[in-house]
Amino acid sequence: MATILRDGDLGLLSGKVAVIGYGSQGHAHALNLRDSGIQVEVGLREGSASWEAAEAAGLGVRTIAEAVGGAQLVAILLPDQVQPQVFAEHVAPSLAPGAAVLFAHGFNVLYERVAPAGANDVIMVAPKGPGHVVRRLFTEGYGTPALIAVHQDASGRARDLALAYAVGIGAGRAGILETTFKEETETDLFGEQAVLCGGTAELVRAGFETLVAAGYQPEIAYYECLHELKLIVDLMWEGGLAGMRYSISDTAEFGDYTRGRRVIDEHVREAMKAILDDIQSGAFAREWVEDMENGEARLKAMRAEAAQTALETVGKELRSLMHRAGDH
Ligand code: NAD
Ligand code: MG
Ligand code: MG
Ligand code: MG
Ligand code: MG
Ligand code: MG
Repeated sequence: MATILRDGDLGLLSGKVAVIGYGSQGHAHALNLRDSGIQVEVGLREGSASWEAAEAAGLGVRTIAEAVGGAQLVAILLPDQVQPQVFAEHVAPSLAPGAAVLFAHGFNVLYERVAPAGANDVIMVAPKGPGHVVRRLFTEGYGTPALIAVHQDASGRARDLALAYAVGIGAGRAGILETTFKEETETDLFGEQAVLCGGTAELVRAGFETLVAAGYQPEIAYYECLHELKLIVDLMWEGGLAGMRYSISDTAEFGDYTRGRRVIDEHVREAMKAILDDIQSGAFAREWVEDMENGEARLKAMRAEAAQTALETVGKELRSLMHRAGDH
């Protein structure tokens, strides 16, 4: 069993922490660190749409170069695509020698797209959850688990600094695990491609389309294959597969054991292994970087095509009835 860490020395973060970006992870890290008593400054592009939101939350906001100047630690919480350019143009020139550079995902460091100078610590704190959940659970007194890693230890205390930051964002309340940039990146990409995002999205779509093609009402197919998924996943989150199975009917449980493996069969495991091979060989990274360099043309086309599917149009209508105004 891996060692699960719960505590670190917040005193190591006695200087300024610059949080670059105020998106999903950025807002959560900035607010949680601030609430943990750490001096935080948010760095944004001039004219950024997030500027007002960060100020309204009581945070100090400056340009990226200004926030980086004099910071003890700089957290790069920008979309992975823009990190190399923003780091080179706005972070590196103002970075104090000896400052630590922190990432929330290992992609750019592992694939050598961002390489801070040898005098800087290069560390990672990767929360295992979306930024909005990282913030919400923190305000409720809970935390989101996180992985920490060290790529470059210039100060000799890079690991303890990462641990302190993880505790500052509340991860100690849930559990902190040590890893490497390579392990975090490869498992994160695999999880989101095979299970969490790609696998789940296609499982939902296949189930919905199978029912609709057989003549069932699309609204019922939507409730059955997408809406209820959250309720089932909540049970898994609370109690694992056994906890989920305790709450469902015996009929559902019998169908689960006897039919689940017919859907997720050997062929699916072979496909998962091929996806992992693509990640480990760097083929996935090359394909994604090529699209980044092409203005994300493929990403944008696939996003537009996905929005047109029946699952999405039916869902939009049904959700408007279920969710209170302002929820989403
Ligand atoms: P995001 O897409 O929410 O965007 C972050 C911020 O970057 C925004 O404030 C945006 O205004 C700013 N930004 C965008 N383009 C910019 C540019 N060209 N110059 C300057 N600023 C720009 O980012 P995110 O999803 O929070 O991801 C940040 C990092 O965290 C990534 O490395 C990601 O892999 C990692 N991560 C994200 C999640 C998540 O929940 N989204 C979970 C774990 C790790
Ligand atoms: Mg997004
Ligand atoms: Mg992930
Ligand atoms: Mg990811
Ligand atoms: Mg049911
Ligand atoms: Mg039961």
